[in-house]
Amino acid sequence: MALPVPLCQHYDYAIGEQFNQVEFLPGMRVSVPFGRRQEQVGIALGISDQCGVPPHRLKTISAVIDDQPLFSPPHFKLLCWAADYYHYPLGETLFSTLPKLLRQGKGAPAPAPAQQARVASATAAQDGMASRGFDLNPQQTQAIAAITAHTDAHSTHVLQGITGSGKTEVYIEAVRRVTEQGRQALILVPEIGLTTQFIERLKQRLPVAILVQHSALSDTERLRNWLAARDGEAAVLIGTRSAVWMPLKAPGLYVVDEEHDPSYKQDSGFRYSARDIAVVRGKFDEVPVTLGSATPSLETINNVKGRKYLPQTLPARAAGAKPPEVRVINLRKQPVSGALSKTLLNEITRTLESNNQALLFLNRRGYAPVILCHDCGWYAECTRCSAKMTFHKDKNCLICHHCDARKALPALCPDCERPQLVEVGHGTQRLDQTLAGHFPGAKILRIDRDSTRRKGSMEKMLRAITAGDADILIGTQMLAKGHHFPRLTLVGIVDADAGLLSADFRASERMAQLIVQVSGRAGREQQPGVVYIQTHFPEHPLLQTLVNRNYREFADLLLRERRQAQLPPYTHLALLGAEATKQEVAEKFLRLARNSLKQRDNLAVFGPLAAPIEKRRGRYRCQLLVQSGNRNTLHQALTPWRQTLESMQEAKRVRWHLDIDPQDLL
Ligand code: ADP
Ligand code: ZN
Ligand code: ZN
Repeated sequence: MALPVPLCQHYDYAIGEQFNQVEFLPGMRVSVPFGRRQEQVGIALGISDQCGVPPHRLKTISAVIDDQPLFSPPHFKLLCWAADYYHYPLGETLFSTLPKLLRQGKGAPAPAPAQQARVASATAAQDGMASRGFDLNPQQTQAIAAITAHTDAHSTHVLQGITGSGKTEVYIEAVRRVTEQGRQALILVPEIGLTTQFIERLKQRLPVAILVQHSALSDTERLRNWLAARDGEAAVLIGTRSAVWMPLKAPGLYVVDEEHDPSYKQDSGFRYSARDIAVVRGKFDEVPVTLGSATPSLETINNVKGRKYLPQTLPARAAGAKPPEVRVINLRKQPVSGALSKTLLNEITRTLESNNQALLFLNRRGYAPVILCHDCGWYAECTRCSAKMTFHKDKNCLICHHCDARKALPALCPDCERPQLVEVGHGTQRLDQTLAGHFPGAKILRIDRDSTRRKGSMEKMLRAITAGDADILIGTQMLAKGHHFPRLTLVGIVDADAGLLSADFRASERMAQLIVQVSGRAGREQQPGVVYIQTHFPEHPLLQTLVNRNYREFADLLLRERRQAQLPPYTHLALLGAEATKQEVAEKFLRLARNSLKQRDNLAVFGPLAAPIEKRRGRYRCQLLVQSGNRNTLHQALTPWRQTLESMQEAKRVRWHLDIDPQDLL
């Protein structure tokens, strides 16, 4: 029996006389007494004649919830594989992928016989050409043919093409072919709120039932979608990360759009990568998988080089628009006013004069990231995190972006009691104010997490931009993806330096992806676009390669650096993180953990080290990194280790987690 408990172990229960007739199959839910609870939902793993518990202590199943397994055999196999791979308890793995109502034991009605026969199928297929209004170009045709050539065999395709090169058209036609065969397609996207245009397009073009799984749905609606997917009622499913666990009656294609996006990695609890799971699912189901991106992750590029994935490249902009020109502004050589160089200000003026839109990208919300005392050097820091507090002028308070703690802005310096507090650095709110000063007549829209908190506000702003009802856009990474703004011709990257200076080894990869994505917003229709990148390091080789060559060569350069430094994708990592209110406690646990890991060839351990953000929400955070050039070696070491960790006395005094293929080491 698998139960939702944080231990890598299974539980045995006796089958009472009343269930003699029941055929227990793996994946069926039952209700069992557990601990102090009388009724706990559990998932049957199998029946055995042997049992580790003495008969008189063996408890008995109290009820059988399902008369059929919840999961198809390949789906169950996938879940077991994932629990193994991520070294996460099977019970919690199974439960965390189910809709809430099923976790709570609500019934999952079996499909009615009539329904069962009605597998989703695209009948009366619309003529693709007619609804599209143009012919696919040869590269698109070839990509679609390759992806759908063998729908009964697994292959992973990497669809690489800049924004506007026609990737979405390829998805649509590949999905059409699959649904015409009566099979289902699952499409993963980074964020639903940013994908409305994409979903609308799919709905217009495909005459099949399309369901969207998103966070605004009620529990009942989520369960309904889950059942519709399982029973083949839905032909196409679109969702974020967690949708990768949707059951499918007749899978035919998996698509991961913007495959490089960090949001595909879950960063708490069951820390899986939805992109990687989609690929493994395709393998188990023997169907094709397509990973699409203008800027594939280094892992994916490496898999193409190793011939595990097949490249499908769309070289040009499909509708004939030219890619934007990219120029670098050296901030060391220019007067800068309020984070904006003279060059960039002039360009904004020109853009507005020709009645076009400008987008300024700044990945930092709030007004000023630091509040500093001019007299004594005091700065506002969060008491619960090792992080500075950001000043939010609209609320006139300081907010910690790590724990959301809030404090009033002090009138005097808390240390020296003098009134000289200064705002240092620029967030989107301050940029908004600066721009309003420079361009008093312009309509400025700021799009970040603060300005889009209210439901529907994001959609409203996107509509305003598309309708031309905005002159200057200020955006964080929320605005980097997916949208199509016909009048946008100028993009300014306000600060590219953070990505070049960060301690995180993935920072420069992320920076480049964001720059390319944001640049893709410029000049999508008849008008050519220009991108300006502000930096203090214009001669940085990575930046030079990105600007003067292209993302592929940039990625090659970065891959060489990763190889030299023995970093992923050339080695594999697991991170053991521990948190405690006292630093020594977390550190001691990790020291003992380190000692209990058996040494092996080709296995290196680093730490315990303080995490880059040492304290968060009042807890000190330490980490241990386990690294190997060979995945099997790593996993062989981790399996017994996880068992040891669970049984360690010190483990009870800390919060700990194991993260396989960690994305961010912060
Ligand atoms: P991506 O998903 O790569 O950003 P899209 O599929 O959205 O690209 O295509 C960008 C624009 O080009 C869309 O307006 C689309 O309708 C158009 N388009 C796509 N393929 C072609 C083509 N072969 N000929 C003309 N226009 C195309
Ligand atoms: Zn002071
Ligand atoms: Zn904090």
